[in-house]
Amino acid sequence: MLSGKYELVVGLEIHAQLQTLSKAFCGDDTTFGMLPNTQVSPISLGHPGTLPVHNIKAVEYAVMLGLALNCEIRRENQYARKNYFYADLPKGYQISQDNTPICNGGYVAVNLEDGTVKNINLTRIHMEEDSGKSMHDQDLEDTLVDYNRAGVPLVEIVTEPEIRSAEEAFQFINEIRKLVRYLGICDGNMEEGSLRCDANVSIRLAGSNTFGTKVEVKNMNSMSNVKRAIAYEAQRQADLLEAGESFESETRGFNPLDGSTFNMRTKELVKDYRYFPEPDLPPLLITEDWKASIKSKMPMLPKEVENILSSKMGLAKYDVQLISDDKKTAEYYLAITEHTNNYKAAANWVMGAVKSYLNEQAMSIEQLSISPKRLAELINLVDEGKLSNTSAAQNVFPMLANEKTRSVLDIAKSLNVIQTGDVDFIGDLITATLAKYPEKVLEYKNGKTNLLGLFVGEVMRGSQGKADPKIVNQELIKKLEN
Ligand code: ADP
Ligand code: MG
Repeated sequence: MLSGKYELVVGLEIHAQLQTLSKAFCGDDTTFGMLPNTQVSPISLGHPGTLPVHNIKAVEYAVMLGLALNCEIRRENQYARKNYFYADLPKGYQISQDNTPICNGGYVAVNLEDGTVKNINLTRIHMEEDSGKSMHDQDLEDTLVDYNRAGVPLVEIVTEPEIRSAEEAFQFINEIRKLVRYLGICDGNMEEGSLRCDANVSIRLAGSNTFGTKVEVKNMNSMSNVKRAIAYEAQRQADLLEAGESFESETRGFNPLDGSTFNMRTKELVKDYRYFPEPDLPPLLITEDWKASIKSKMPMLPKEVENILSSKMGLAKYDVQLISDDKKTAEYYLAITEHTNNYKAAANWVMGAVKSYLNEQAMSIEQLSISPKRLAELINLVDEGKLSNTSAAQNVFPMLANEKTRSVLDIAKSLNVIQTGDVDFIGDLITATLAKYPEKVLEYKNGKTNLLGLFVGEVMRGSQGKADPKIVNQELIKKLEN
């Protein structure tokens, strides 16, 4: 933790790989993990005479993201060549957007630990293509290059330097990851590199309104590593300042083994990419009509789901976060609530029995063979007093995975776990119980009403767990107060 003397300032640059079937400017396949250099046509390789074309899907994905983040969408989009030399960049330039990014402005609402929400403003989102992948550790002498990734569409999201803690940065990425997954435009997988984050980190004296020298930290392949890297880097800078040393702007890498950052290159003050308009691609017009049609195709956003969960379903903040965190889980939950009015119970099931079952079986909710409708039936049986929560979760629920045709009630019956609210059956057990404990009954009548639990327990035991405890309670009180 940085001491109160200094304030942390962070701006993030997030690259998200768009999940299109083909690359940004040609028809090459984008499937991840294929044999190296099998998805490379002469266009990916930038051979002379080849021409790029726009991938409309990629553009629509970028627009969707911008609309979801309240950005201004640019009408006339130009591409630019960003020139630099590197082995994994076969053309010698990257097609990117320079001063005409597709999105300007916008913000991400981030939930903070203290329960407040902070809007973090975006500078821009622009479209570009990915580079190939250099592998320095596969061969003893040479660096190997895989160009399958070269030309895969990316969006780069750039924030204003408004992030003030490692936790805020973590939550910011979490929101972005959640959003791109909801939109279905990126799988959000940081470990496989489909979502990548660079953190620009500086510190300044608390209360100051000028910025300190920033250091860019790269290569964190998980959200928690981003958090660790920022915390480490802030402390490193504070230690330097405390020792009376200054430092230059530089690019640093992150070592996940010990959580430290290390120098990669000290930045020249002005990077010269010699940007110029890409002459091979015509400007791309995003008309109001096109924007409207993209908007109409947009799926439900995380914030909308959160709103439904809290206002319509009345769930507590914690439940809302857990259920909305994953789109498929949210969809499953909402589907249950179409068949039961007990929204809170549905939430408890999703976060409890369903979640532990999925963990045990090592499966995702999409693989769950218990339909939301059947789970709702189970919830309703509990509500009707026909089943205890425990036997519903422990006995009936696991059976539902294999039994798809018999009704939930029939399954419960065959398991012999149906509870009864039958007043005659329960009445007999009550009479027997009260006869067994005459002194306790007297004590109860003299005011020791917490003995009720003892009687309920005895009746339940007598019924072998099959009496509906609600009815047992009611009937017992009736008898005892008479
Ligand atoms: P560069 O010219 O190095 O690309 P930019 O000004 O374009 O720098 O900003 C890149 C990223 O760095 C943005 O996310 C921005 O918010 C962030 N940033 C800029 N200045 C600072 C700073 N002093 N401390 C932390 N982050 C910063
Ligand atoms: Mg910049």
